[in-house]
Amino acid sequence: MPVVVEPVLQSKVTEALAKDLGRGMARLDPADMARLGVAIGDVVAIAGARRTVARLSPTYRAHRGQGRVLIDGVVRANAGAALGQDVEIRRAEARRADRVVLGPLSNAAGERDLARWLDGLPVVSGDRVRVGVLGCRPAEFTIGRTVPGGPVVIETTTTLELAGTAGDGRGPLATAPGPPLSYEEIGGLRRELDKVREVVELPLRHPEVFERLGIDPPRGVLLHGPPGCGKTLIARAVAHETEARFFSVNGPEIIHKYYGESEAHLRELFAEAARQAPSILFFDEIDAIAPRRERVFGDVEKRVVSQLLTLMDGLAPRAGVIVLAATNLPDALDPALRRPGRFDREIRISAPDRDGREEILSIQSRRMPLAGGVDLPRLAAITRGFVGADLAALCREAAMTCLRRALPGPGLGAGRLPSERVEALEVRMDDFLAALGDVKPRHRDRHEP
Ligand code: ATP
Repeated sequence: MPVVVEPVLQSKVTEALAKDLGRGMARLDPADMARLGVAIGDVVAIAGARRTVARLSPTYRAHRGQGRVLIDGVVRANAGAALGQDVEIRRAEARRADRVVLGPLSNAAGERDLARWLDGLPVVSGDRVRVGVLGCRPAEFTIGRTVPGGPVVIETTTTLELAGTAGDGRGPLATAPGPPLSYEEIGGLRRELDKVREVVELPLRHPEVFERLGIDPPRGVLLHGPPGCGKTLIARAVAHETEARFFSVNGPEIIHKYYGESEAHLRELFAEAARQAPSILFFDEIDAIAPRRERVFGDVEKRVVSQLLTLMDGLAPRAGVIVLAATNLPDALDPALRRPGRFDREIRISAPDRDGREEILSIQSRRMPLAGGVDLPRLAAITRGFVGADLAALCREAAMTCLRRALPGPGLGAGRLPSERVEALEVRMDDFLAALGDVKPRHRDRHEP
């Protein structure tokens, strides 16, 4: 019998994007995926000192050609690998989980929302999982026995057994929107935010104005700009502030999580958004589901784009549903999507200028105890090229630097810290400057202010 050699990839572990946290995702260069014979949405096994599984998404251009895999802290812990280490990645056959036993929850507040958070998550027995609980600390637990064994994907039909109780998990149509967010939590995007509000708020709040004027309100708004500059934040904030229902859909996920049912899922989403109007339907990474059709090889993608167009055309003008979409690659989109009546408004969300960076820094550091000498205007001046996500990372890293300075050595891990020591913690300007050595901007634009 011929010996079949299974392809294996060595990849360097890299920090995940903020928006991927807790979703069991691994981002890989599409060229690396081709080498492994896997595609977006497939499940792969990742092995460092341990072995776990994750679902694939593509890396952004800045990370391509470097042999990197972007995974979050939970996947890193499950794979037994730290940032900068190499892991082995291979294709995995993940079956639908019939039954999953969950170890004790660290925080009972998570119980109610478990099925919703776990829907679509690939796991293997022994993994630790962390689910976000709105307004509370995240709940953590281990995955016990699964039926079948080996890599499985938890779905809405999976029976979840928790501390002796059995539950059926009915999942949501779209992912949870995250905690409520107000306009104040977005820095440096005043003009952009005003434009988005103008085209989104008016039709949602006062559809009668359009009726009176005899014109159709906009149906679709395309937000485009570099990664990490706040497109998702804007969509969430507008939904929150207009008290609209927010349905958030990740482009790659709709193709592969609902493989074979992508179009039906899209139809259901639009119907649900109309039922619960006023609603905002947000498509993140729309380029993944609506690339130029002449460049698409798969039938699924072609059918999904056509379905999306049909659904947008079919939206009643005053149905109270606005479709927002975000992309880093507007030119990769199918041009049919950008015609009148579809995504006919395009708003560029740019990297922040100096004032914008200062505003974002003050938002991101607002819960940190800052020492007197912290000079945010100076930090804003020396962080040219940093987008919001980079500045958030800078603040987190400065806080970690402060922690390492104040609590050196192994003391960090052992026992409870005396409260006086915790209360004395202050993040200093030096901590920010030291953090600048580690956090690099992911985007550079020659024309940037
Ligand atoms: P992507 O293209 O990667 O989806 P994005 O443009 O949608 O990126 P967000 O997901 O909105 O970016 O931003 C990531 C994180 O960066 C946010 O959760 C927030 O912490 C921080 N951030 C980004 N932009 C801003 C901003 N303008 N003000 C405050 N925080 C920001």
